[in-house]
Amino acid sequence: MNFCVKCGCDCEESLEGMCIDCWLNGRKLTSLPHHVDLKTCTNCGEFYIGDRWVRTDLEDAVIKAALNARDILKDADYLAQEVSLEENDPRVYTVTVWTHLDVMGHETEDEASTIVRLKNSVCKPCSRKLGSYYTSILQIRSGAKELSPELKEETLAMVEDSVARQAVNNKQLFITKMEIVPGGVDVYLSSISLGKSLAKELSDAYCAETKESPKLVGQTSDGQDMYRLTYLVRLPEYHVGDVVVCEGRYCKLTSVSGIGGRVLDLMNFREHSVRRSEMEDLRIHEKSADLMDATVINRSENEIQVMHPSNYSMVDLRVPEGFEAGETVKTVMIDDVLYLVP
Ligand SMILES: [Zn+2]
Ligand SMILES: [Zn+2]
Repeated sequence: MNFCVKCGCDCEESLEGMCIDCWLNGRKLTSLPHHVDLKTCTNCGEFYIGDRWVRTDLEDAVIKAALNARDILKDADYLAQEVSLEENDPRVYTVTVWTHLDVMGHETEDEASTIVRLKNSVCKPCSRKLGSYYTSILQIRSGAKELSPELKEETLAMVEDSVARQAVNNKQLFITKMEIVPGGVDVYLSSISLGKSLAKELSDAYCAETKESPKLVGQTSDGQDMYRLTYLVRLPEYHVGDVVVCEGRYCKLTSVSGIGGRVLDLMNFREHSVRRSEMEDLRIHEKSADLMDATVINRSENEIQVMHPSNYSMVDLRVPEGFEAGETVKTVMIDDVLYLVP
């Protein structure tokens, strides 16, 4: 049989020799510091809670910051809580927390409050962004002397899309800057793996050659070598839609992928694939942008009659099975003969 050292009552269980009532009397079971500083990034608006930057609303951030600072006495077990929040001014809040606790099977509640102050800060990714930080450069070049404006636009859109997609779950990934340089574009990136993945993506989409070269730029604080990687992506001169010469035959390039491409023979309209290693032998006969429009005069099953785009004579053109000619069709001159480019 125990008895309480304070009030003398008989009690089944005791804490530090006291009955539960005497032990609880005047004791703070929970505590909060006088104030808690809550860092918020002035650039992206995220809050630093626990040990990381999170995107959430202000009220949630203030409450979480307060709750993270709460101490609960070890003899008490947490059951539930109620929280109230009061704005003192837009950057200072009073948070009061009622915590329901279990002490030796006895339910009780304790109140504590603190002041949460917002402090301006800049998160690491933002400070890197603002500081023009980069660790890799993607150099987009063309086999031709200049990267055409269309290709520039197309590849940059692909790069921006891809970075936006990857950055959804990782805001350490970003484009620091893009720079138009003679012969192409340089894209400065926050991460080496990002540069690598973009180079691969472009290489697969265009059957482009890539080359990576590291450059030692210094050492980290713990003495490790620090590198920047440059990924050169040289886009081939050919492009989907161009008329190319493939093994001596005139063909339309219909698709390009990481493993090669496909071409459509303009003489017999048969399509076949070209291995990646053979792609570099393709010679451009006519860029797709330079193909001539010919007005369609008549249509029959295997043929259409068009007006020759340069001498205006009537020309019969063979068409592939199932080809639906519109008002005009794309054509190309090969050895002074007009051919359809379906
Ligand atoms: Zn007692
Ligand atoms: Zn930020």
